[in-house]
Amino acid sequence: MTPAPSPETAIDTTAPLDGSTPRKRLFIRTWGCQMNVYDSGRMADVLAPLGYGPAETPEEADMVILNTCHIREKASEKVFSDLGRLRVMKEARAEAGQKMVLAVAGCVAQAEGKEITTRAPWVDIVLGPQTYHRLPEMVARAARAAGAQIDTDFPVEQKFDLLPQPRADQGPTAFLTIQEGCDKFCSFCVVPYTRGAEFSRPVAAIVAEARRLVAGGAREISLLGQNVNAWHGEGPGGATWTLSRLLYELAEIEGLARLRYTTSHPRDMDDDLIQAHGRIPQLMPFLHLPVQSGSDKILAAMNRGHQADLFFRITDQLREVRPDMAFTSDFIVGHPGEKAEDHAATMALVEKVGFALSYSFKYSARPGTPAAGQPFQVAEAEKDARLQELQALLRQQQDAFNLSCVGLECDILFTGTGRHPGQMAGRSPWLQPVHALGNADLVGRVARVKIAAAMPNSLSATLLDAKELTPA
Ligand code: SF4
Repeated sequence: MTPAPSPETAIDTTAPLDGSTPRKRLFIRTWGCQMNVYDSGRMADVLAPLGYGPAETPEEADMVILNTCHIREKASEKVFSDLGRLRVMKEARAEAGQKMVLAVAGCVAQAEGKEITTRAPWVDIVLGPQTYHRLPEMVARAARAAGAQIDTDFPVEQKFDLLPQPRADQGPTAFLTIQEGCDKFCSFCVVPYTRGAEFSRPVAAIVAEARRLVAGGAREISLLGQNVNAWHGEGPGGATWTLSRLLYELAEIEGLARLRYTTSHPRDMDDDLIQAHGRIPQLMPFLHLPVQSGSDKILAAMNRGHQADLFFRITDQLREVRPDMAFTSDFIVGHPGEKAEDHAATMALVEKVGFALSYSFKYSARPGTPAAGQPFQVAEAEKDARLQELQALLRQQQDAFNLSCVGLECDILFTGTGRHPGQMAGRSPWLQPVHALGNADLVGRVARVKIAAAMPNSLSATLLDAKELTPA
């Protein structure tokens, strides 16, 4: 599972679905991966009929939800320090005779529900990722009863069947969760414990949601799942479909210019999916494929179920069918048992594959995961040195990739205005932020540009043809 590039994203919540004026204000702070961002949107949707509309800040909110991530120790500690600040706000509101409901959702809630209510007894609601559809009921119970309401079940009913449809007007780029949970039990990961077993949404529900998003203005859809390429949903007539078949189906939706999917596991990159990259023009030539380590010994200790060689084969094959393919990955340095030669194997893998962008972290023991109790923990100083070396190489590759784009003609999906007057902002096929001078009516359209310059984290471009490639 991949944390989003920014460790913390404050998400704007939505206005009531029925268009009425919100009577109460909701603030959701989201940490972690894009699936959490998607879930925060669903929680806002489920609370909208109760009269909750968006609050700009927690200070002005009647309800605050912290949607948490458990992937790194620091992330869960941030939750507790946020809860300390919220306590002060809640007490000030109470003195003024007003109520503030505090909820903790997401993976920290799932993994540490009891600890949250012990360490922060002023929290009203603790709910795990599988029970967001029960949020209105919990809000009502919290209003009636004293003490925290905790719901960290893995219920039999599927939340996707019970949550309201996401708002369709999410803008030119939209996320669509198609799969949740994981059965793989990597040694360092809490997802199988916090999100439960793999679940794949059925084809009909996904296609219907995708059509609504496109009708609402989405030109790009990113399919989400903790193990998205393990998706195996029920198709029409009860047959099980694979992700490649789903991608072909979604590519038929008129007006949908771009498709992406994340996060994938090398073990689930089957031949059909690889071939789909060469056959579906809407499928962007950019894949996030976490490898974690280049050492077969460490990959085995991580219980990843593949060796470095499989990663080389997949990336080679994808480049064969789609020569402009670029990759991003996740790396963990300092897994228990990692020696200097294992780290050297990771460096060699990075050199050989070449990445456009990557996320790398020091191993941190997550309570309850198998690696936490393993012997041969690597010293912090050693982890720091290895991480620095890896990140320097990854940064060099990222810069080289961005520089290689200068002079290139490519299509940009424009998503909004830029920081400077007359400037429009969009994304390249490889997800780089791109700026170009242009008119505001470019938003939501794909247009041809020539890349003029590469900055550290973005590109600037010149519009080649103001004639849009995708009609509004
Ligand atoms: S494949 Fe491994 S890292 Fe990814 S979600 Fe499953 S257990 Fe976690």
